[in-house]
Amino acid sequence: MSRTRFDALAESNNREYTTVEETGRRSQLFGQQVFNEEKMLQFLTKEALEKVKAAIFQGTKIDRKIADQVAEGMKAWALSMGATHYTHWFQPLTGSTAEKHDAFFDILSDGRAMEKFGGAQLVQQEPDASSFPSGGIRNTFEARGYTAWDPTSPAFIYKTTLCIPTIFVAYTGEALDNKAPLLRALHAVDEAATGVAQYFDKNVRKVHATLGWEQEYFLIDKALAESRLDLIMTGRTMVGNAAAKGQQLDDHYFGVIPSRVLSFMSDLEKQCTKLGIPVKTRHNEVAPNQFELAPVFEEANLSVDHNLLLMDVMEEIADRHHFKVLFHEKPFAGVNGSGKHNNWSLATDTGVNLLSPGSTPMKNLQFLTFFVNTIKAVDTYEELLRSSIASASNDHRLGANEAPPSIISIFIGKQLSDVLDELEGVSQGKLSPQEKTELKLNVVGKIPEILLDNTDRNRTSPFAFTGNKFEMRGVGAKTNCAKPMTVLNTIVAKQLTSFKKEVDALIDKKSLKKDEAVFNILREYIKTSKRIRFDGDGYGTEWQDEARLRKLSNNKNTPEALQVLTSKESIALFNEMQVMSEVELKAHQEVELEAYILHLQIEGRVLGEMAYNHIIPAAVRYQNVLLENVTGLKEVYGAAYNKVAENQLNILEQIGEHLSEIKKLTDEMTASRRRANGLSTINKRAQAYCQDVKPYFDSIREQSDSLEKLISDDLWPLTKYAELLFKK
Ligand code: ADP
Ligand code: MG
Repeated sequence: MSRTRFDALAESNNREYTTVEETGRRSQLFGQQVFNEEKMLQFLTKEALEKVKAAIFQGTKIDRKIADQVAEGMKAWALSMGATHYTHWFQPLTGSTAEKHDAFFDILSDGRAMEKFGGAQLVQQEPDASSFPSGGIRNTFEARGYTAWDPTSPAFIYKTTLCIPTIFVAYTGEALDNKAPLLRALHAVDEAATGVAQYFDKNVRKVHATLGWEQEYFLIDKALAESRLDLIMTGRTMVGNAAAKGQQLDDHYFGVIPSRVLSFMSDLEKQCTKLGIPVKTRHNEVAPNQFELAPVFEEANLSVDHNLLLMDVMEEIADRHHFKVLFHEKPFAGVNGSGKHNNWSLATDTGVNLLSPGSTPMKNLQFLTFFVNTIKAVDTYEELLRSSIASASNDHRLGANEAPPSIISIFIGKQLSDVLDELEGVSQGKLSPQEKTELKLNVVGKIPEILLDNTDRNRTSPFAFTGNKFEMRGVGAKTNCAKPMTVLNTIVAKQLTSFKKEVDALIDKKSLKKDEAVFNILREYIKTSKRIRFDGDGYGTEWQDEARLRKLSNNKNTPEALQVLTSKESIALFNEMQVMSEVELKAHQEVELEAYILHLQIEGRVLGEMAYNHIIPAAVRYQNVLLENVTGLKEVYGAAYNKVAENQLNILEQIGEHLSEIKKLTDEMTASRRRANGLSTINKRAQAYCQDVKPYFDSIREQSDSLEKLISDDLWPLTKYAELLFKK
C-alpha cells in the first residue's frame, strides 16, 4: 500500500539530510572505475592493447586468443577493484538497460574454487531473454537472443559488478536492441563522411559523430512521491489541481540551487566522474524542482551509453538523498516538462569539427558542405526523424508550447541564411575567375566572423544550428538517445553518399574543378531544401498552416508518427545504408506500438483505481461531514435550516455532480479500454488507445481536480501539487 499523504508529509518534515561536500579535484577521480587506456596499459599485453585499439578505431575483429588475454586483464583489474561479478550490459527495446550478473567465482573439476572469466565470457553471453520485446523476431526465426561485446565502449565497474557494454541480437543477427542499429548507423556515417571530408583533406581516415545531451529532470521528495500511486506506477501525476503558484514568477530558473539538491548533485557528479561520464554543467530549470545536467560531448555511441548509465546512477543516488527522480516528459499538468536536447556534430580523426567554420575559404567550403548536406538530409527524411522521438510520454510535450512542435524544421539564423541565399545565386557549371574570387572572399570567407556573434537563437525550433553543431530539441527526457542518433546519422550518411556521387559525376563528365562541382551541387540542395528552413515562431498556429502548405509532416501522436518507419522509402534507406533490414524495422515498429499501448493501458488502470479507491471515497467522506453538519443544523433550526445550511447544501450538490460524473467517465474509459484490447491488429489497438481511451484521462482529471478544490484539505488523500513541487 502506498503511504498516506499525511504520513508522507510527516516523514519528509522530520527527516535529517546528509550533506555531501563538493569534491576538490574531479580530474583525479575521472575514469577510476573504467577500464580505459590507462588501465589497459597496466593490465594488458602490448599485443592485446593494440588489437583493442584497432577494434575501437578501425573496427577490426578481435580473435579468440586476444579476447582471452583481454578478459584476463579485465578480470585482474576488476578483482583489484573489489568486483565480485560481471555482466553484459545491454539495451533491450524496453528503453532502459538490462544486466544479468554472473559471479567470477567458479568451482573447478577437481573441486577447487577460483575466480574465472575468459574470452568466451567476455565476447558473448546468452541471457534468458525470452521476456524482452522482440517484435516477433524471435518467434519468426525461433532463435534465441545473445549479447556480444562492443569494444568501442569501455567496460566499467558499477557497485561491485564489472559491466561490459554489449549489443543484443537474435541468433540470426537481427537487432533486439537500440545499440546494434546505432553502431551500424555510426559506421555508415563514418564511411560516407570520410569520403566527403577527403575532398578537403586527404589525411582524414575516420569521421565520428559526436553527441552532447542535456538531461532535464525533476527531483521530488521520495516519501511524497511514493505516497501517490500514479507517480509510482506511471512516473507522472494523472490528477492534481494546479498549485496557487506555478512557474509564472520564473524565480526557479537558474536560481540558487537548494542545499539538499546540491548535496545530491555533488554526490552524483562524484559517482559520474568515477564512471567516466564527463558531467560539466548543472542548473535549475524553468519549473519548480526541475534541474538540468549536461556533460562534455563525446563520441556518439559512448555518449548514448553514458546517458543511459547516468539515468541509472541518478535513481540510485537520489534514493540515498531521499529523492525520487522523475524522467517523465510531463510529470505535472500546467508545469513545464522535461526534455533532452541532443547536440550533434561530425568530427574527423584529424581533430576537426566538420560543422565548425575555419580560418580559410577551403575550410569554410568544407563546413558549408556538411552544413548544407545535413539540412538536405533532414528535409528529405523529416518524418523519419520525427518518428525517432515518438513515445506515449513525449506526446504530452511535443507541440505543447514548451517544447518544439511535432513538425520538424531547421533554424539557421539570419546570417547563415544570407550566406545560403548568396550561394544560391551562383551560376551553374564552370565559374568565372571573378565569380570564384567573389565567392571565396565575400561569401565563404565571411563565415567565421559571422558565427562568433551567435546571439541569434530560436528556442522554438526543433533542429537548430548553434554555431558549431546542430541541436535536436524534441528528444524526450526518458528517450534513449540511440533512437534519434540512429536516424540522424543514417539520413546524413545517405545524403553524403548521394552528394559524393553527384560531385564525382560532375568532375568526371563535365570536367569541373572539385570546388566548382561542390558549389554546383550545394546550390541545388539549397534550392530544393528550402521548405525545411524556418526561423519564425515554431509555437504559433500560423506555422502549422504554413507547414501544411510546405507539405511537412505534422504527426501529433505516436501511433501516427511511427507509421513512416515501414514506408517503402524508409525500408530502402535503412537497407541501403545497412542499418536495419525490413524485418528489423517492422519488429522495432511493433515494439514501439506495443510500448505505447502498454503505457496507456497502465495509465488507464491507475486512473481507474485512483478514481474508485481514492477520489470517490474522499468525496463521500466529506459528504458525510457536510451531511452531519446539515442534520445538526436541522435539529437546531428546524424548518429554517434551509437558509442556514445553504452553502453546505450547495457544496453537497456540487460534490454529488462531480461524483456521478467521475464514476460515469471512469466506467466509460474502462469499457473503451476493453474494446481497444479486443481489436485485431496492433495498429488498430494503438489508434484506439490514442483516439478513444486517452481523451478520458483529461475529462476524468477535470472532475477530480474540481473535487480537490471542494474537499476539505484534511480529507484529501493525494499529495498536492504545492507539496510535491515546492517542498525543499
Ligand atoms: P544550451 O544553450 O543549449 O543550454 P549548453 O552550452 O548548455 O547549451 O550545452 C551545449 C551542449 O552541446 C553540451 O552538452 C555540449 O557538450 C554540447 N556540444 C558542444 N559542442 C559539441 C559538438 N561539437 N558536438 C556535440 N555536442 C557538442
Ligand atoms: Mg540546449
